[in-house]
Amino acid sequence: MRNFAYVSAGAVDEAIELLGQDGATRPLAGGTDLLPLMKEEAAAPARLVDIKRVAELDSGIQETADSLTLGALTRLADIEEHPLLRQRYTAVAEAAGVAATPQLRNMATLGGNLLQRPRCWYFRSPQFHCWLKGGASCPAREGENRLHALFGGGPCYAAHPSDLATALLALDASVHLKGRAGERTVALAEFFALPEDGRRVETTLLPDELALRLHLPAPAPGTRSVYLKAMDRKTWAFALVSVAAVVRLDGNRITGARVVLGGVAPIPWRAPAAERALVGAEPGPEVFKRASEAALTAARPLQHNAYKAPLVGALLQRALSTLAPRASG
Ligand SMILES: Cc1cc2nc3c(=O)[nH]c(=O)nc-3n(C[C@H](O)[C@H](O)[C@H](O)COP(=O)(O)OP(=O)(O)OC[C@H]3O[C@@H](n4cnc5c(N)ncnc54)[C@H](O)[C@@H]3O)c2cc1C
Ligand code: SF4
Repeated sequence: MRNFAYVSAGAVDEAIELLGQDGATRPLAGGTDLLPLMKEEAAAPARLVDIKRVAELDSGIQETADSLTLGALTRLADIEEHPLLRQRYTAVAEAAGVAATPQLRNMATLGGNLLQRPRCWYFRSPQFHCWLKGGASCPAREGENRLHALFGGGPCYAAHPSDLATALLALDASVHLKGRAGERTVALAEFFALPEDGRRVETTLLPDELALRLHLPAPAPGTRSVYLKAMDRKTWAFALVSVAAVVRLDGNRITGARVVLGGVAPIPWRAPAAERALVGAEPGPEVFKRASEAALTAARPLQHNAYKAPLVGALLQRALSTLAPRASG
């Protein structure tokens, strides 16, 4: 690990001033991703700005007339246990509850979870200077790619690691940001973006911006959601694949659907073809099977990760059949 300076900020504007625009200073929240990245030399900030004492980021979980607001420092444990999230934004509470371990969920913050970096072993190894770290090529493309992307691959084929991002995107969340140029609210659909030359990260966050809070719009009546995750073992594992599904039923007809897949692309991956297969249909096994086939038509497996495609199909059908009876209530 390289030497670095440490400073603690007391207010958002102070933290933004300290961050600067060259990316050499990074915000430190729970530290559960950033510090391991620094030990693995996949990140080498010259300075850390500790934001844990910034009260404006710690506003907790608050209900407003038309949305739920979650401060960036909200811990995953608080999301998992919050009664309103469990009842009305079920997929989000479920995603928090299956992320990492209880000890990590007590440290890890919402902002840090969305901004964590990929678990790709080449990325995390100091021995490889892969494309995402500024190198020329991606060793995973022809190498050990069992855990890598089915969709959106190239130049990077890493799988996005955040459970919460997948569920929050399915529920149309947006993030409120502040930097030197001012404040902006960005839908997660735009916040996450495939890395490209000139922006080798998975988000459109600017170097001097802080995530202040998340907004979740109130779901329409009759909306239910679920988050399912397939793992190598039952706990302390990232998703091999995951599914966040949101369905709205009017009588016995699906009038709205959102399907987002996790662990299958460098960013949380929306499956609009699956949504189209669902909307207007009566829920049932045939429709769910058609939706899962539609979700996979654009999949481009690598040499060692083709197993992910049937896993996505099975998980999506299970998620939808879980929702159908729930949605009629
Ligand atoms: C063993 C292990 C297992 C795990 N399993 C899972 C899992 O199954 N599912 C899952 O989703 N995650 C998993 N994680 C990841 C874990 O959830 C994240 O490390 C954690 O959520 C990051 O939050 P943090 O507060 O510790 O962030 P930090 O490590 O402090 O920060 C992470 C990044 O976010 C930036 N950042 C933090 N807050 C802000 C902000 N407000 N504004 C701008 N930038 C910010 C930091 O600068 C840094 O770049 C696992 C981690 C470990 C170590
Ligand atoms: S998949 Fe992405 S993170 Fe992994 S080696 Fe390739 S470029 Fe690097």
